[in-house]
Amino acid sequence: NHKKEMRAKNKRYNLTIDPKASKLLKAKTALEEALKHQELELYCQPQIKIRTGEISGVEALIRWNHPELGQIKPQKFIPVAEQTDSIISIGEWVLRQACLQNRTWQDMGLPNLIMSVNLSPLQLKDTNFINLVESILGETKLAPQWLELEITEKAILANTEIAHQVLQNLRQLGIHLSMDDFGTGYSCLNHLPKFPFGTLKIAQSCVQEITEKPENIAIISAAIALGNSLDLRVIAEGVETNKQLKLLENLDCREAQGYLLSQPLNYQEATRFLEVYQHQKVSC
Ligand code: C2E
Ligand code: MG
Ligand code: MG
Ligand code: MG
Repeated sequence: NHKKEMRAKNKRYNLTIDPKASKLLKAKTALEEALKHQELELYCQPQIKIRTGEISGVEALIRWNHPELGQIKPQKFIPVAEQTDSIISIGEWVLRQACLQNRTWQDMGLPNLIMSVNLSPLQLKDTNFINLVESILGETKLAPQWLELEITEKAILANTEIAHQVLQNLRQLGIHLSMDDFGTGYSCLNHLPKFPFGTLKIAQSCVQEITEKPENIAIISAAIALGNSLDLRVIAEGVETNKQLKLLENLDCREAQGYLLSQPLNYQEATRFLEVYQHQKVSC
Protein backbone atom coordinates (compact mmCIF):
# COMPACT_ATOMS: atom_id res chain seq x y z
CA ASN A 1 0.00 0.00 0.00
CA HIS A 2 2.78 2.32 0.98
CA LYS A 3 4.57 1.39 -2.24
CA LYS A 4 1.43 2.07 -4.22
CA GLU A 5 1.10 5.50 -2.64
CA MET A 6 4.74 6.26 -3.36
CA ARG A 7 4.33 5.20 -6.95
CA ALA A 8 1.28 7.41 -7.32
CA LYS A 9 3.16 10.31 -5.77
CA ASN A 10 6.16 9.78 -8.01
CA LYS A 11 3.89 9.67 -11.00
CA ARG A 12 2.37 12.95 -9.95
CA TYR A 13 5.80 14.59 -9.83
CA ASN A 14 6.77 12.83 -13.02
CA LEU A 15 9.46 10.82 -11.25
CA THR A 16 10.14 7.19 -11.87
CA ILE A 17 12.27 5.48 -9.34
CA ASP A 18 13.73 2.34 -10.77
CA PRO A 19 14.45 0.03 -7.81
CA LYS A 20 17.31 -1.58 -9.70
CA ALA A 21 18.94 1.77 -10.39
CA SER A 22 18.64 2.86 -6.80
CA LYS A 23 20.19 -0.41 -5.66
CA LEU A 24 23.12 0.16 -7.99
CA LEU A 25 23.48 3.73 -6.79
CA LYS A 26 23.70 2.44 -3.21
CA ALA A 27 26.28 -0.12 -4.24
CA LYS A 28 28.31 2.54 -6.02
CA THR A 29 28.32 4.71 -2.91
CA ALA A 30 29.29 1.75 -0.73
CA LEU A 31 32.20 0.87 -3.02
CA GLU A 32 33.43 4.46 -3.06
CA GLU A 33 33.22 4.56 0.73
CA ALA A 34 35.14 1.29 0.91
CA LEU A 35 37.96 2.81 -1.14
CA LYS A 36 37.98 5.98 0.94
CA HIS A 37 37.95 4.12 4.27
CA GLN A 38 40.65 1.65 3.23
CA GLU A 39 38.41 -1.39 3.50
CA LEU A 40 39.96 -2.97 0.41
CA GLU A 41 42.96 -5.25 0.83
CA LEU A 42 45.23 -7.08 -1.58
CA TYR A 43 45.93 -10.73 -0.93
CA CYS A 44 48.65 -12.53 -2.88
CA GLN A 45 48.77 -16.14 -3.99
CA PRO A 46 52.20 -17.62 -4.83
CA GLN A 47 52.86 -19.40 -8.13
CA ILE A 48 55.31 -22.29 -7.92
CA LYS A 49 57.63 -24.06 -10.38
CA ILE A 50 56.50 -27.68 -10.12
CA ARG A 51 59.92 -29.33 -10.62
CA THR A 52 61.99 -27.17 -8.30
CA GLY A 53 59.47 -25.82 -5.77
CA GLU A 54 60.72 -22.28 -6.41
CA ILE A 55 58.37 -19.32 -6.30
CA SER A 56 57.88 -18.03 -9.84
CA GLY A 57 55.47 -15.16 -9.16
CA VAL A 58 52.43 -14.03 -7.20
CA GLU A 59 48.89 -13.09 -8.19
CA ALA A 60 47.21 -10.15 -6.49
CA LEU A 61 43.62 -10.92 -5.40
CA ILE A 62 41.37 -8.25 -3.95
CA ARG A 63 39.32 -8.59 -0.76
CA TRP A 64 36.78 -6.23 0.79
CA ASN A 65 36.88 -6.13 4.58
CA HIS A 66 33.37 -4.88 5.19
CA PRO A 67 32.83 -3.40 8.68
CA GLU A 68 29.53 -5.30 9.15
CA LEU A 69 29.56 -8.14 6.64
CA GLY A 70 33.15 -9.30 7.18
CA GLN A 71 35.46 -10.25 4.33
CA ILE A 72 33.82 -10.25 0.91
CA LYS A 73 35.26 -12.16 -2.08
CA PRO A 74 35.72 -10.41 -5.44
CA GLN A 75 33.08 -12.49 -7.22
CA LYS A 76 30.51 -10.81 -4.97
CA PHE A 77 31.49 -7.20 -5.64
CA ILE A 78 33.58 -6.96 -8.83
CA PRO A 79 30.51 -7.55 -11.06
CA VAL A 80 28.69 -4.75 -9.19
CA ALA A 81 31.76 -2.50 -9.50
CA GLU A 82 31.68 -3.19 -13.23
CA GLN A 83 28.02 -2.24 -13.51
CA THR A 84 28.55 1.04 -11.67
CA ASP A 85 31.90 2.02 -13.23
CA SER A 86 33.52 1.95 -9.79
CA ILE A 87 35.80 -0.70 -11.29
CA ILE A 88 37.88 2.08 -12.86
CA SER A 89 38.86 3.60 -9.50
CA ILE A 90 39.07 0.21 -7.76
CA GLY A 91 41.25 -1.10 -10.58
CA GLU A 92 43.53 1.90 -10.24
CA TRP A 93 43.83 1.27 -6.50
CA VAL A 94 44.67 -2.42 -7.08
CA LEU A 95 47.33 -1.57 -9.65
CA ARG A 96 48.99 1.05 -7.46
CA GLN A 97 48.83 -1.17 -4.38
CA ALA A 98 50.29 -4.17 -6.23
CA CYS A 99 53.19 -2.12 -7.63
CA LEU A 100 53.86 -0.54 -4.22
CA GLN A 101 53.83 -3.90 -2.49
CA ASN A 102 56.16 -5.46 -5.04
CA ARG A 103 58.45 -2.44 -4.82
CA THR A 104 58.54 -2.77 -1.00
CA TRP A 105 59.56 -6.44 -1.27
CA GLN A 106 62.34 -5.51 -3.66
CA ASP A 107 63.53 -2.79 -1.27
CA MET A 108 63.60 -5.39 1.53
CA GLY A 109 66.07 -7.40 -0.54
CA LEU A 110 63.70 -10.25 -1.36
CA PRO A 111 64.21 -11.87 -4.79
CA ASN A 112 62.47 -9.92 -7.56
CA LEU A 113 59.13 -11.41 -8.53
CA ILE A 114 56.51 -10.84 -11.18
CA MET A 115 53.25 -9.68 -9.62
CA SER A 116 50.11 -10.40 -11.67
CA VAL A 117 47.11 -8.11 -11.48
CA ASN A 118 43.64 -9.02 -12.78
CA LEU A 119 42.09 -6.60 -15.24
CA SER A 120 38.43 -5.96 -15.89
CA PRO A 121 37.46 -5.67 -19.58
CA LEU A 122 36.24 -2.16 -18.74
CA GLN A 123 39.77 -1.13 -17.79
CA LEU A 124 40.99 -2.35 -21.17
CA LYS A 125 38.43 -0.09 -22.85
CA ASP A 126 39.36 2.93 -20.73
CA THR A 127 41.27 5.31 -23.01
CA ASN A 128 43.41 6.54 -20.10
CA PHE A 129 44.55 3.06 -19.09
CA ILE A 130 47.98 2.97 -20.77
CA ASN A 131 48.88 6.37 -19.31
CA LEU A 132 47.72 5.21 -15.91
CA VAL A 133 49.92 2.10 -15.99
CA GLU A 134 52.88 4.17 -17.11
CA SER A 135 52.41 6.76 -14.41
CA ILE A 136 51.92 4.17 -11.63
CA LEU A 137 55.13 2.41 -12.67
CA GLY A 138 56.94 5.75 -12.59
CA GLU A 139 55.45 6.80 -9.29
CA THR A 140 56.26 3.50 -7.56
CA LYS A 141 59.61 3.15 -9.38
CA LEU A 142 58.82 -0.44 -10.26
CA ALA A 143 60.53 -1.76 -13.41
CA PRO A 144 57.82 -2.85 -15.90
CA GLN A 145 59.20 -6.39 -16.16
CA TRP A 146 57.89 -7.10 -12.63
CA LEU A 147 54.28 -6.33 -13.51
CA GLU A 148 51.93 -8.67 -15.35
CA LEU A 149 48.31 -8.02 -16.29
CA GLU A 150 45.81 -10.90 -16.44
CA ILE A 151 42.98 -10.76 -18.93
CA THR A 152 40.39 -13.44 -19.56
CA GLU A 153 39.84 -14.83 -22.99
CA LYS A 154 36.23 -13.71 -22.74
CA ALA A 155 37.29 -10.08 -22.24
CA ILE A 156 39.41 -10.24 -25.37
CA LEU A 157 36.74 -11.86 -27.49
CA ALA A 158 34.25 -9.19 -26.39
CA ASN A 159 36.24 -6.55 -28.25
CA THR A 160 39.03 -8.08 -30.27
CA GLU A 161 40.05 -4.91 -32.13
CA ILE A 162 40.53 -2.66 -29.09
CA ALA A 163 42.07 -5.48 -27.09
CA HIS A 164 44.66 -6.18 -29.75
CA GLN A 165 45.85 -2.56 -29.92
CA VAL A 166 45.81 -1.99 -26.15
CA LEU A 167 47.65 -5.24 -25.43
CA GLN A 168 50.32 -4.37 -28.02
CA ASN A 169 50.78 -0.95 -26.39
CA LEU A 170 50.95 -2.46 -22.90
CA ARG A 171 53.49 -5.02 -24.02
CA GLN A 172 55.57 -2.19 -25.50
CA LEU A 173 55.77 -0.64 -22.04
CA GLY A 174 57.70 -3.76 -21.04
CA ILE A 175 55.06 -5.33 -18.80
CA HIS A 176 53.92 -8.95 -19.21
CA LEU A 177 50.48 -10.15 -20.26
CA SER A 178 48.70 -13.27 -19.15
CA MET A 179 45.63 -15.04 -20.49
CA ASP A 180 43.50 -15.99 -17.49
CA ASP A 181 40.99 -18.86 -17.15
CA PHE A 182 42.02 -20.53 -20.39
CA GLY A 183 39.75 -23.44 -21.21
CA THR A 184 36.49 -21.99 -19.91
CA GLY A 185 33.78 -21.32 -22.46
CA TYR A 186 34.85 -20.83 -26.03
CA SER A 187 38.58 -21.36 -26.06
CA CYS A 188 40.30 -20.55 -29.28
CA LEU A 189 43.78 -21.96 -29.54
CA ASN A 190 44.37 -19.83 -32.61
CA HIS A 191 43.91 -16.57 -30.69
CA LEU A 192 46.92 -17.28 -28.57
CA PRO A 193 49.74 -16.63 -31.03
CA LYS A 194 48.04 -13.44 -32.29
CA PHE A 195 48.24 -11.60 -28.98
CA PRO A 196 51.41 -10.65 -27.10
CA PHE A 197 50.83 -13.02 -24.17
CA GLY A 198 53.74 -14.34 -22.14
CA THR A 199 51.65 -16.48 -19.80
CA LEU A 200 48.80 -18.94 -20.19
CA LYS A 201 46.72 -19.84 -17.13
CA ILE A 202 44.87 -23.15 -17.35
CA ALA A 203 41.49 -22.66 -15.67
CA GLN A 204 40.69 -24.37 -12.41
CA SER A 205 37.77 -26.21 -14.01
CA CYS A 206 40.21 -27.85 -16.46
CA VAL A 207 42.55 -28.80 -13.65
CA GLN A 208 39.66 -30.50 -11.87
CA GLU A 209 38.77 -32.39 -15.04
CA ILE A 210 42.21 -33.94 -15.18
CA THR A 211 41.19 -36.34 -12.45
CA GLU A 212 37.40 -36.29 -12.84
CA LYS A 213 37.05 -36.53 -16.62
CA PRO A 214 40.17 -38.26 -17.89
CA GLU A 215 38.62 -38.30 -21.39
CA ASN A 216 39.40 -34.54 -21.53
CA ILE A 217 43.08 -34.98 -20.80
CA ALA A 218 44.00 -34.84 -24.48
CA ILE A 219 42.54 -31.33 -24.79
CA ILE A 220 44.31 -30.01 -21.71
CA SER A 221 47.50 -31.68 -22.82
CA ALA A 222 47.20 -29.92 -26.21
CA ALA A 223 46.74 -26.53 -24.54
CA ILE A 224 49.84 -27.07 -22.37
CA ALA A 225 51.86 -28.23 -25.38
CA LEU A 226 50.79 -25.20 -27.41
CA GLY A 227 51.75 -22.87 -24.56
CA ASN A 228 55.14 -24.55 -24.19
CA SER A 229 55.81 -24.44 -27.92
CA LEU A 230 54.99 -20.70 -27.99
CA ASP A 231 57.45 -20.29 -25.11
CA LEU A 232 54.75 -19.12 -22.72
CA ARG A 233 54.75 -19.65 -18.98
CA VAL A 234 51.95 -22.17 -18.50
CA ILE A 235 50.40 -22.01 -15.03
CA ALA A 236 47.75 -24.45 -13.81
CA GLU A 237 45.24 -22.71 -11.53
CA GLY A 238 43.34 -24.08 -8.56
CA VAL A 239 45.58 -27.08 -7.91
CA GLU A 240 44.20 -28.75 -4.79
CA THR A 241 45.57 -32.28 -4.76
CA ASN A 242 48.87 -34.06 -5.18
CA LYS A 243 47.30 -36.25 -7.81
CA GLN A 244 46.45 -33.20 -9.93
CA LEU A 245 49.95 -31.83 -9.50
CA LYS A 246 51.63 -35.07 -10.57
CA LEU A 247 49.36 -35.42 -13.60
CA LEU A 248 50.08 -31.82 -14.59
CA GLU A 249 53.79 -32.44 -14.27
CA ASN A 250 53.43 -35.49 -16.53
CA LEU A 251 51.62 -33.32 -19.09
CA ASP A 252 54.67 -31.02 -19.04
CA CYS A 253 52.95 -28.17 -17.20
CA ARG A 254 55.78 -26.29 -15.44
CA GLU A 255 54.00 -24.02 -12.95
CA ALA A 256 51.09 -24.29 -10.55
CA GLN A 257 48.98 -22.14 -8.26
CA GLY A 258 46.41 -23.41 -5.78
CA TYR A 259 45.47 -24.28 -2.21
CA LEU A 260 47.82 -27.31 -2.30
CA LEU A 261 50.78 -24.95 -2.56
CA SER A 262 49.41 -21.91 -0.73
CA GLN A 263 46.17 -20.10 -0.01
CA PRO A 264 46.02 -16.43 -1.01
CA LEU A 265 47.93 -14.58 1.74
CA ASN A 266 47.62 -11.11 3.22
CA TYR A 267 50.62 -8.77 3.06
CA GLN A 268 52.23 -9.97 6.29
CA GLU A 269 51.70 -13.65 5.54
CA ALA A 270 52.95 -13.21 1.98
CA THR A 271 56.07 -11.39 3.18
CA ARG A 272 56.78 -14.23 5.59
CA PHE A 273 56.16 -16.82 2.86
CA LEU A 274 58.64 -15.08 0.55
CA GLU A 275 61.22 -14.79 3.32
CA VAL A 276 61.03 -18.49 4.16
CA TYR A 277 60.77 -19.90 0.63
CA GLN A 278 63.51 -17.83 -0.96
CA HIS A 279 65.91 -20.37 0.62
CA GLN A 280 63.73 -23.43 0.73
CA LYS A 281 61.68 -25.39 -1.77
CA VAL A 282 57.87 -25.22 -1.44
CA SER A 283 56.96 -28.82 -0.72
CA CYS A 284 54.21 -30.23 -2.87
P1 C2E B 1 41.13 -15.60 -10.91
O1 C2E B 1 41.93 -14.47 -11.43
O2 C2E B 1 41.00 -16.79 -11.79
O3 C2E B 1 41.80 -15.98 -9.52
C1 C2E B 1 41.87 -17.29 -9.01
C2 C2E B 1 40.81 -17.54 -7.99
O4 C2E B 1 40.88 -18.91 -7.56
C3 C2E B 1 40.97 -16.73 -6.71
O5 C2E B 1 39.67 -16.49 -6.20
C4 C2E B 1 41.70 -17.69 -5.77
O6 C2E B 1 41.52 -17.39 -4.41
C5 C2E B 1 41.02 -18.98 -6.15
N1 C2E B 1 41.84 -20.15 -5.86
C6 C2E B 1 43.19 -20.25 -5.81
N2 C2E B 1 43.59 -21.51 -5.56
C7 C2E B 1 42.48 -22.25 -5.46
C8 C2E B 1 42.23 -23.65 -5.21
O7 C2E B 1 43.13 -24.47 -5.04
N3 C2E B 1 40.94 -24.03 -5.18
C9 C2E B 1 39.91 -23.17 -5.37
N4 C2E B 1 38.66 -23.66 -5.30
N5 C2E B 1 40.09 -21.85 -5.61
C10 C2E B 1 41.36 -21.40 -5.66
P2 C2E B 1 39.24 -15.07 -5.66
O8 C2E B 1 40.39 -14.42 -4.94
O9 C2E B 1 37.96 -15.24 -4.95
O10 C2E B 1 39.02 -14.24 -6.99
C11 C2E B 1 38.03 -14.63 -7.91
C12 C2E B 1 38.12 -13.85 -9.19
O11 C2E B 1 37.88 -12.47 -8.98
C13 C2E B 1 39.50 -13.90 -9.83
O12 C2E B 1 39.66 -15.11 -10.53
C14 C2E B 1 39.47 -12.68 -10.72
O13 C2E B 1 38.80 -12.96 -11.93
C15 C2E B 1 38.62 -11.73 -9.90
N6 C2E B 1 39.50 -10.76 -9.22
C16 C2E B 1 40.23 -10.94 -8.10
N7 C2E B 1 40.91 -9.82 -7.78
C17 C2E B 1 40.60 -8.91 -8.75
C18 C2E B 1 41.01 -7.55 -9.01
O14 C2E B 1 41.82 -6.94 -8.30
N8 C2E B 1 40.44 -6.94 -10.11
C19 C2E B 1 39.57 -7.59 -10.94
N9 C2E B 1 39.07 -6.91 -11.99
N10 C2E B 1 39.18 -8.84 -10.73
C20 C2E B 1 39.70 -9.52 -9.65
MG1 MG C 1 36.89 -17.18 -4.77
MG1 MG D 1 43.61 -14.19 -12.35
MG1 MG E 1 41.93 -17.59 -13.24
